[in-house]
Amino acid sequence: MSHSSIPPTPSFCPNPKCDSRANSQPWRFKKKGFFSRDQKPFRIQRYLCHHCGRNFSSQTFSTHYWLRRADLLEPLFYRLVACSGFRQIAREMHVSKTTIQRLSEHLGRHCLLFHERLRPRDAPKEPLVLDGFRTFEHSQYWPFDLNLLVGSSHYVYGFNDAELRRSGTMRPAQRLKRSILEEKYGRPDPQATRKRVEELLRRVIPPGSRTILRSDEHRAYPQAMRRLRDRIFQHETTSSRMSRTTQNPLFPVNLADLLLRHSSANHKRETIAFSKRRQGALYRVAIWVVWRNYIKDRSENRRDGPPAKALGLIRRALDVDEILRERLFPDREGISGWLSACYFGAIPTRAIEHCGIHRARHSV
Ligand SMILES: [Zn+2]
Repeated sequence: MSHSSIPPTPSFCPNPKCDSRANSQPWRFKKKGFFSRDQKPFRIQRYLCHHCGRNFSSQTFSTHYWLRRADLLEPLFYRLVACSGFRQIAREMHVSKTTIQRLSEHLGRHCLLFHERLRPRDAPKEPLVLDGFRTFEHSQYWPFDLNLLVGSSHYVYGFNDAELRRSGTMRPAQRLKRSILEEKYGRPDPQATRKRVEELLRRVIPPGSRTILRSDEHRAYPQAMRRLRDRIFQHETTSSRMSRTTQNPLFPVNLADLLLRHSSANHKRETIAFSKRRQGALYRVAIWVVWRNYIKDRSENRRDGPPAKALGLIRRALDVDEILRERLFPDREGISGWLSACYFGAIPTRAIEHCGIHRARHSV
């Protein structure tokens, strides 16, 4: 661990229910000794909140809180955007696949909040491109779209998921299996794409603004826009049959699709590392979004900095160490709706009946 482990002075009580959060008076806490541990940093400062009496420590404010193998977070971040599968990473790092999975969920949650903190809150100043990135969870019988909203700058403003019914050519046996699975687990909502695209546009585009939105001819997109009456859309469609060159108006999202497929093992064609759960895929997209927006150059040849720099959100490319420096708390970032469900791991997978929902342990 590098300088990310320097304990910052606490500036708020980590207890979301603490009075000091609503109180206008200055927050008061006191130092309460140290405890030692068998990994760096060895000595941890302990604190006590005067308002709620909660004990906490400098580690409470570190992204490494309650992780036994926090040293793996940074290398894991890079592996996850370099197309490695969980099993492969686990073998290389000499830990179990479960450890890698857990750390990757931890990174995903952090990245969701990190992007929320940095993304622009005013109306996007550039045309946006919307597209659904087709992939699947659990088996080929459960396809879903990752809806991506990307600017001309290549900045990814947001994403979410929409479950789909398996379609296209199927053999009679496959058609029968689909009906058995749907009988057992229920059929995906036929309105899912419209609902989720509406959620995504509502989240990224503030009311009262005017936006140029480019997409293919998906019928659910205009339906979603019509429901957002307090926003004005200039919708420009391009046929998905048009060749995918840099001249194509959908180029920013086509490139994002390509990069996402190229850098994530779970989206490679014919992969055996596909996502068992949509939730896991969403955490990985969150990591990918942070890498794409704040770390990776827009053009590898020109080395012109990441998209967030082009938008003036950051002054230079960030490194993973900076991204992981400070722990972010969901209640302080004000997330709600789909984002909150995604953060807490509540996006269900039909074919798995009991999906575990993340609950913050001990520290908050
Ligand atoms: Zn408190």
